[in-house]
Amino acid sequence: MGLSGLEIYKLLPKTNCKKCGFPTCLAFAMALAQKKISLDKCPDVSEDAKGALESASEPPIRLITIGSGDKKLDIGNETVMFRHEEKFYHPTGIGFLIEEGSSEDEIKKTVSEIKKLQFERVGQKIEVNLIALQGRSDKDKFLCALKTIIEGIDLPLVLINEKTDALKEALEICKDKKPLIGFCTERNLKNMSDLAKTYKVPIIVMGEDLQSLESLVKNINQAGIRDLILYTGEKSLSGKLWDLTQIRRMALKKTFRPFGYPTFTISASEDLFEEASFAASYVAKYAGICILKNRAPWQVLSILTIRQNLYTDPQKPLQVEPKIYEVGKPTDKSPVLVTTNFSLTYYTVEAEVEASKKPAYVISCDSEGMSVLTAWAAEKFTAESITRALNKSGVKEKVSHNNIIIPGYVAVLSGKIEEESGWKVTVGPREASGIPTFLRALEKRWKQRSVK
Ligand code: SF4
Repeated sequence: MGLSGLEIYKLLPKTNCKKCGFPTCLAFAMALAQKKISLDKCPDVSEDAKGALESASEPPIRLITIGSGDKKLDIGNETVMFRHEEKFYHPTGIGFLIEEGSSEDEIKKTVSEIKKLQFERVGQKIEVNLIALQGRSDKDKFLCALKTIIEGIDLPLVLINEKTDALKEALEICKDKKPLIGFCTERNLKNMSDLAKTYKVPIIVMGEDLQSLESLVKNINQAGIRDLILYTGEKSLSGKLWDLTQIRRMALKKTFRPFGYPTFTISASEDLFEEASFAASYVAKYAGICILKNRAPWQVLSILTIRQNLYTDPQKPLQVEPKIYEVGKPTDKSPVLVTTNFSLTYYTVEAEVEASKKPAYVISCDSEGMSVLTAWAAEKFTAESITRALNKSGVKEKVSHNNIIIPGYVAVLSGKIEEESGWKVTVGPREASGIPTFLRALEKRWKQRSVK
């Protein structure tokens, strides 16, 4: 949280000497608060005030980058507790744990399964971000596992090993990939700090409770290390949510610097449903990273979906371009369906048309990204707007009939649309799930009509 002009003013010399080019210290403070000038324009500011002002100008939760290149992951730099207050900026990194004891074949299989965990949802590609390798006692196995992972996949890495000699050798192998390393505890603080400094990599700091975490972070900060991720170890769901919420609240509401970093979580349970629901809770409640032990595609898709929903801008619904879309290979005799341009609505309709195996045209009308009923209630999906969309889409040149299908929820618009547009309206099903049955029945009706 930045300081106000008055708060900055209290830290200035208050001599109104004008050396900064401003008539008073207060004017300078106001300009500084609005980030119009930099602090170094005042030559007389004390070192203490400088420290306070510089740290106040940092974001409340530091932005941390893991990895390098196209796949690098940015987390942190969040500004609100609840997404409706503004938005969440940097989606939780989702990754998978690989243990050093796994055989080479097992690791290769795991890596190839992880590669397939990419999905398309409402027109966006959603995918996983990280691989975490955990070492325990066998350095050689840890390093072999690392090499197999690097050969198989290009994702940012988390290297977990409390033995810093093993981590050092691992960093020599993959230092260019800028992995995240951990866990830094009381026991290995000095060696871990040295590694983070030497290899310029971020580090996971682990304290069993918030007090020990705070003191560890302060010690690491004193060693000059600022790229940190916070972890409070394995806990019950409620314990973990408590920690995550307190850390976020202290960082944002109290500008408490030791907690001004993203957080790390591991969701682990033999029960896959439980593991997925824990992970979903961590994503919803501020985890910067969430590592899973299992990787069933349905688990991962549900977690990625929750993440996608949380990290969209609540003020801007996901929209598709308002235009005519072809589903399958439609001809001049294919049906024409009309819907809104809310992504979820459009893609649901598109998926159902595809499932029907009946090629069709789908016209998405500009409804400012609202779903059918909401847009109708807000007068964004009206006879006039549908007519405009039909005219603009060029559908007249594509089909040799003049029939359109509108969603069942807006059957009330039928007469007015026919009047305004000259197209004949057929009322479709209320729910998109009814589209396949509807299109098959419609095709039969049209065939019978043409035979007569
Ligand atoms: Fe105040 Fe510093 Fe500007 Fe002088 S140079 S007026 S002390 S802010």
